Amino acid sequence: MFNALVITKPESGYRCELSAIDEAQLPAAGDVTVRVAWSTINYKDGLAITGKSPVVRSFPMVPGIDFAGTVSHSDHPRWKTGDRVLLNGYGVGESHWGGLAQMARVKGDWLVALPESLSEREAMAIGTAGYTAMLCVQALQRHWADAGVQPGSGEVLVTGANGGVGSVAISLLAGLGHTVVASTGRLQEADYLKSLGAASVIDRSELGAPGKPLQKERWIGVVDSVGSHTLANACASTRYGGAVTACGLAQGMDLPASVAPFILRGVTLYGIDSVMAPMPRRVAAWEALANTLDRQRLAAITKEIGLKDAVGAASDILAGRVRGRLVVDVNA
Ligand code: NDP
Repeated sequence: MFNALVITKPESGYRCELSAIDEAQLPAAGDVTVRVAWSTINYKDGLAITGKSPVVRSFPMVPGIDFAGTVSHSDHPRWKTGDRVLLNGYGVGESHWGGLAQMARVKGDWLVALPESLSEREAMAIGTAGYTAMLCVQALQRHWADAGVQPGSGEVLVTGANGGVGSVAISLLAGLGHTVVASTGRLQEADYLKSLGAASVIDRSELGAPGKPLQKERWIGVVDSVGSHTLANACASTRYGGAVTACGLAQGMDLPASVAPFILRGVTLYGIDSVMAPMPRRVAAWEALANTLDRQRLAAITKEIGLKDAVGAASDILAGRVRGRLVVDVNA
């Protein structure tokens, strides 16, 4: 038997509870069994656990879109017992049982070898949010390399700054020598954002309301986890030839923008998806995280909770009450 969060959908309602499960019930559609050490609470886990958005498609479901642990059994040629692995996305925690559990059975093709220098806990402190932040940063880096943009030659905007994606993005960009401007609704956390490397902090209300199609050119790049008017205004205030990465929808799924920044300033908008990202890009992102992310800053953004606390944390993350990253000790 092992402990897991289990989501059920009785005739009326939607429930997520800590339950004891028989290993024999693990999904048959998997060829590697993993003893999970750490998982996390991402925004999408918040949606899944609370049922606020139809993220979960089949029931019963174990939530948890990511985990790190050790292979306990493998029928897959790439993995053997004892290998340290991590997983993000591929519908795990949505359509396939996920990581908020002491055990998981998944397809070996979905697993990434845990980089040598990362512990399971550090990997999940980064989690899907941090890995997505790195996918954004790497998209900007490819763009900048092509355009000949040097670190420090202009400001980079990070929205949703106190969130998981935002906190890691600030730390990564600052570590690369960029001048980072953090946009937040929690100005009281300005010192925290500066400790991660933000050069300055702006109120998210500056970007969150309808704005002009073209605004004063400011950003050489943007990491946006917020969407809606914020993303539209970020595009409208990006410098000629700059790039915007869009990965989230914390403000909204809409994009009330005009084409003006794209056709008059050559701005590029990159869509960032972590769930189905090709394996070479995943591995490159995790290697870069292992090699470049400042561990002290990572520790500063991380709060640890146990599996039993995960249901409450799901509501907190949707309400914007979580700062940085929540790691879940599935054995506590
Ligand atoms: P968090 O909840 O940790 O962070 C989101 C942050 O957005 C909040 O901390 C808050 O920052 C800000 N925010 C919240 N509500 C609003 C609002 N109404 N208007 C403006 N800003 C708001 O979530 P994550 O960092 O884990 O994820 C961020 C987004 O990225 C989510 O939408 C998530 O679904 C998406 N995502 C997408 C992925 C992909 O593959 N494309 C992968 C991972 C995440 P502050 O308090 O500083 O203003």
